[in-house]
Amino acid sequence: MRLSRAFLPTLKETPAEAQIVSHRLMLRAGLIRQTAAGIYAWLPAGQRVLQKVAQIVREEQDRAGAQEILMPTIQPAELWQRSGRYDDYGKEMLRIRDRHDREMLYGPTNEEMITDIFGAYAKSYRDLPRNLYHIQWKFRDEVRPRFGVMRGREFLMKDAYSFDLTKEGAIHSYRQMFVAYLRTFARMGLKAIPMQADTGPIGGNLSHEFIILAETGESQVFLHRALLDYDALREAPDYDSDLSHITEFWTRHYAATDEKHDEAAWNAIPEADRVSARGIEVGHIFYFGTKYSAAMGLTVAGPDGAPVHPEMGSYGIGVSRLVGALIEANHDANGIIWPDPVAPWAAAVINLKPGDAATDALAGQVYAALAPDALLDDRDARAGEKFADADLMGHPWQVIVGPRGAAAGRVELKRRRGGERAEVSPEDAIARIRESRSA
Ligand code: ATP
Ligand code: MG
Repeated sequence: MRLSRAFLPTLKETPAEAQIVSHRLMLRAGLIRQTAAGIYAWLPAGQRVLQKVAQIVREEQDRAGAQEILMPTIQPAELWQRSGRYDDYGKEMLRIRDRHDREMLYGPTNEEMITDIFGAYAKSYRDLPRNLYHIQWKFRDEVRPRFGVMRGREFLMKDAYSFDLTKEGAIHSYRQMFVAYLRTFARMGLKAIPMQADTGPIGGNLSHEFIILAETGESQVFLHRALLDYDALREAPDYDSDLSHITEFWTRHYAATDEKHDEAAWNAIPEADRVSARGIEVGHIFYFGTKYSAAMGLTVAGPDGAPVHPEMGSYGIGVSRLVGALIEANHDANGIIWPDPVAPWAAAVINLKPGDAATDALAGQVYAALAPDALLDDRDARAGEKFADADLMGHPWQVIVGPRGAAAGRVELKRRRGGERAEVSPEDAIARIRESRSA
């Protein structure tokens, strides 16, 4: 994409309504535009990041054996009346009536709908285990939408639902998702710590929240320092093997949010190993047994022919919240510093003298080699403005091409993270950019 033709609006002023850095930078870098309180349009750069994040989530769900579907955003109230949650859910649920006066709602989550869909096909224990997920917009009429996409009203969530014959099977499915989550966040360059959690209105008895440490997080968290050193990508786990050692590691070391904080356990940790910080919840997983299968009458024939309610779990990731969380964890005074795997473009090629034949040719050559994973700044603007925009938008690499370099067949390659600069051949620049993107 050439900047002279792109819709990539950046703002110089700091928007007054934004209280935290990720919200300010998302507005300034032109990622989102608020259309109503807690509801956002995603502009081209934001949409690309959102899709990159969703794709990593998708790949790790698939790898763990879950299958992607797509359920609608609008649901009939009748489904929720069957589970008994229609009245309980309260004002967070956006309720709608269609022209026939039928009660509908904009889905805040999909336990009821998936139980209904899966139940229409599952007949016997041979149809288990299964795990189905989708990446779909949700609506929750939050009392206080704030911090941009971090606490929106409409937001993109990945939610997966597992069905098993036995409790042991369901716990295995839970552990598969637990590991998939560790891998998912690690691939984005984030350290997400699983913490024992309350199960809330979804109900059940085994639950973890995945929390990223950030000063502006809404949760107070306490953990053992050892958890920060865990490398989730070191070896790809075989999802069909015994995964208990992985969850055991996280249980052995203390990690809790404020609600689950245990002073005695905390004091037992050597003082030097205690980390107390703020965190952002980016994922939440639940095992809730037969709560929905029993309430909604989902049964399959067990091995002895007797009907059984499948054991279920649900597994959420805040895909749109992650975009904000990624910025909270990756920025400096000049703007965003995208981690390579989620950056909207791998590089910005900055032409310092548009109209100069040799500079245009060299910048065009580097851009063509990297496109569509690069932007070409061919605007008729001051160099300072181009550098500031590239820093603000956070491209992992900047390739700076000026008349002097063009004459010598050299470009300047700048790494956004760390700020190192080197004069290299165009081929070297292209190779290094491609390599870091595919790593
Ligand atoms: P929170 O405690 O932050 O309100 P929740 O417990 O209501 O979250 P879940 O039902 O567990 O959320 O939803 C799964 C994930 O969806 C959360 O871990 C979070 O990342 C994301 N999420 C939940 N509510 C919002 C929201 N209002 N805006 C953006 N993302 C959200
Ligand atoms: Mg939660």
